[in-house]
Amino acid sequence: MENIAFIGLGNMGGPMAANLVEKGFSVTAFDLSGAVLDKAVAAGCRKAASAEAAIAGADVVVSMLPSGEAVRSLYLGVHGLLQAMGPEVLLIDCSTIAADDARQVIAAAGERGIDALDAPVSGGTAAAAAGTLSFMCGGEAAAVERARPVLAAMGANIFHAGPAGSGQVAKICNNMLLAIHMIGTAEALQLGVDNGLDPNVLSQIMGASSGGNWSLEKYNPYPGVMENVPASRNYEGGFSVALMLKDLGLAMDTAAGSASSTPLGALAKNLYQLHGGDPINSALDFSSIQNLFRRPVGN
Ligand code: NAD
Repeated sequence: MENIAFIGLGNMGGPMAANLVEKGFSVTAFDLSGAVLDKAVAAGCRKAASAEAAIAGADVVVSMLPSGEAVRSLYLGVHGLLQAMGPEVLLIDCSTIAADDARQVIAAAGERGIDALDAPVSGGTAAAAAGTLSFMCGGEAAAVERARPVLAAMGANIFHAGPAGSGQVAKICNNMLLAIHMIGTAEALQLGVDNGLDPNVLSQIMGASSGGNWSLEKYNPYPGVMENVPASRNYEGGFSVALMLKDLGLAMDTAAGSASSTPLGALAKNLYQLHGGDPINSALDFSSIQNLFRRPVGN
């Protein structure tokens, strides 16, 4: 059985580590938050006092952290974890970060003979809990094959997007498109409602027509159209506006680096900025962008 060190057990990392335990892996956990670590212990992880302690004896190190800065400071530099890892270890970073940050960490790992992957995820907290995440991997094909059994314990789809950093590029392309079709869906639904249509009926019509898309059919942003989506619980839970803004920021930085034209991505980022400027909205699910188009009752 492989020993796994898991670093960063928040909303995503916590349930991912719990799935590894459930599938029979031995997981040693470290997080800066004691409360988060206690939850991990309740899920069957062993608690480590530091990141260095967590990786002692680990075959695989998995990290799920909030930012590129957190990932770089964990692994790089004289006090970085790479200094304490032998070449037999496999490093899998599942955080959503800039592709350049991922490439920097993977290159530094490579210099020490360590196989490393960027493997950001799609699916959110529900898929993390259900073990049905999609992993988008960047790195050597052999490293993806080594990682496959570990990733399969946490997800349903494992894609090899290309060399180091490619997982991050795939992730932000997907989330930029998601933001665009969510906004388009909210705008179209509101146009229909403002002209007397029932959002349920309009959703059925567009879903069976050429306007059909994931936001409309699987994650409808209009309250009351679909059960078990954030729109039907005051936009609570799900994927926050703040996290969508983070991903759109990464998409815009990437587009600037490659001189790519992304006008709809830029507009989507602006609209989410406008909506998320209010701290209450910022914590809501990203489908709450519907509220940007809804008129106050009576108007
Ligand atoms: P979170 O804030 O809930 O969890 C991050 C955890 O990392 C926290 O518990 C924090 O204490 C810990 N941490 C931060 N720096 C650390 C360090 N140096 N050492 C140890 N622990 C440290 O965030 P999350 O929602 O779990 O997201 C994690 C990553 O997954 C992010 O990159 C995010 O963009 C990505 N993601 C999130 C979702 C989602 O729906 N929440 C979906 C897809 C991808």
